[in-house]
Amino acid sequence: MNYISTRNKNNTSVNSFSKITMEGLAPDGGLYIPDNFPFLTLKEIYKMANLNYAELFTEIIYQFCGSCINRSEIFQIATDSYKNFGSEDLAPLTKYNDNIKILELYHGPTLAFKDFALQFLSRIFNLFLERSNKNITIIGATSGDTGSAAIEAFKNNSSANIIILHPKGKVSEFQRRQMTTIEADNVFNIALDGNFDDCQAIVKKLLVDKEFNEKQNLASINSINWVRVLAQVVYYFYSALKVLKYNKLERVNFSVPTGNFGDAYAGYIAKKMGLPINKIIIATNSNDILSKFFQTGIYKVSKVVPTLSPSMDIQVASNFERLLFECLDSNPTLVKEYMAKLNTHGSFEISKEMLYELNKTFLGVSVNDDKTIERIRNCYSEKNIIIDPHTSVGLEAACSAKLEELNIVLSTAHPVKFSSAVNKAINNTLSLPNKYKNIFTLEEKFKSFPNDINVIKNFISINSSL
Ligand SMILES: *Cc1c(COP(=O)(O)O)cnc(C)c1O
Repeated sequence: MNYISTRNKNNTSVNSFSKITMEGLAPDGGLYIPDNFPFLTLKEIYKMANLNYAELFTEIIYQFCGSCINRSEIFQIATDSYKNFGSEDLAPLTKYNDNIKILELYHGPTLAFKDFALQFLSRIFNLFLERSNKNITIIGATSGDTGSAAIEAFKNNSSANIIILHPKGKVSEFQRRQMTTIEADNVFNIALDGNFDDCQAIVKKLLVDKEFNEKQNLASINSINWVRVLAQVVYYFYSALKVLKYNKLERVNFSVPTGNFGDAYAGYIAKKMGLPINKIIIATNSNDILSKFFQTGIYKVSKVVPTLSPSMDIQVASNFERLLFECLDSNPTLVKEYMAKLNTHGSFEISKEMLYELNKTFLGVSVNDDKTIERIRNCYSEKNIIIDPHTSVGLEAACSAKLEELNIVLSTAHPVKFSSAVNKAINNTLSLPNKYKNIFTLEEKFKSFPNDINVIKNFISINSSL
């Protein structure tokens, strides 16, 4: 399998899985995608129904790796990646009602679904670094959960230093402390005076700064990195296979709380690979650029507003470019045009025909804070299930969409990560998991910096692993 960049019109170079994994962002600023997607017949898919998670992971992921890794290596890495999940079933499904199930993706070491991809990514990085005998400096932006999942996965790694930018004052205290209380010499946290989009913009600029990147050997752990998205494809298969029966021509819907469009795009890949998915509900909070886009065909950036689901307080959804590339007939010149329009005018619009095509899969629903709180409250009082605000956005979207097929709502974080929002809705003090009992008293270590790329560059130069 070869990979191409969404912005390179001479897409002829050889981009292996290992190359694009280590590069993260393509040098032209585009995102990598496979030049063709593997397709499985229903028969082949249902044959995998009895596999355990690591086995299923191997069967799906190896198809994207070319000759870079073999099956048994992937299986080993997958087994190791998921051994520290605090639930026997890595991704349990809980019944909400006859029409809706909740997929709990928060049993990993940092209590959010980001662990699924980052535990795998760190091990893949290690494998490729060992082979090349190199060191890297990881640079990442976080709206809250990527940072802690990445730090957990890379702390004390002797081949990598990790530098994480989070928007100052815009992540929950629990999320911040998960990052800033880790004691490891290779971990550095920066609180940036700005929002998530500012953090992400700096990371992207650094990655395409050829001279700086070559000197520091930067690597990316954000979902601009293909591996992040790829690893998440697996739980779509895993959960759908639990509920679908081969002999019935059924399909499922997924409701995905969305910010950077990584997780939702992973669902789209699963559908492209043949998994019988009907609709993917794009559930956003009041930062509704994506849900509005799927309603109107207009992609228009507005100001980020802080909400109770801060991990989705994002306007510029990086992964959306991967879908846009496909909408624009895989024409990188058009992608560049649209992205330039976005930069200069703050918006672009796609044709009605294109929107019609997209709506065969995607349904945009936005959920405000009041509804988020109300759904947390109802879910607890009626079903005795405590959900976090991001999950609540997904659940509320699924309830209001009223789709006939079975709906699987992705539960992306443990409620304890957002206890102040949860406490607003229900009078129930959540107890901290053992591992985090001391989190609110441990000493924090981080730097506060202005939104200035040169200050960040300077800090990286001093603290890189080279
Ligand atoms: C990151 C995150 C999301 C959004 O996922 P994207 O892939 O960025 O769309 C939703 N919920 C939680 C809890 C998250 O951490």
